[in-house]
Amino acid sequence: MPQRKPVTDSKRATAPAVSAATLRDTVFRISRAEFFNQAEIRYGPDSQQWKFRCPACGHVATVADYMKFGDAGARMAAFSCIGRLETPATDAFSGKKGPCNYAGGGLFQLNPIYVEYPADPRLSLGPRTVRHFGFADDPLAVGSVPKELKA
Ligand SMILES: [Zn+2]
Repeated sequence: MPQRKPVTDSKRATAPAVSAATLRDTVFRISRAEFFNQAEIRYGPDSQQWKFRCPACGHVATVADYMKFGDAGARMAAFSCIGRLETPATDAFSGKKGPCNYAGGGLFQLNPIYVEYPADPRLSLGPRTVRHFGFADDPLAVGSVPKELKA
């Protein structure tokens, strides 16, 4: 029986590493204004009709769906699966049909769109990045070109 050679540290060092630059390039960054414009292009100006897909289970929900459950400020829309509000929800990583209990602020942050928000002095918030779900239709993706912005 041939003996397997142990993997040496020098061989491990030749394996390609994922750099911070690579990780940065695998997410889609967009300004809040562009993100909202892209939503309007897909679904119209009524933000309650905007549709987002949960990155864990694929369930599609509108902002209005979240508001039905008392999310008046739509804080969870495009951030956590509506299964967090609806019951029963499946486990986010069970592979079962959603909606699920995925939360964008949890350990596994799958939300693919990085939306750059400007400072909001009314809320005492500085500029910040919030990770959102992708659109249900024609999702933005790395390498894609956003649809022409409205004039
Ligand atoms: Zn889900």
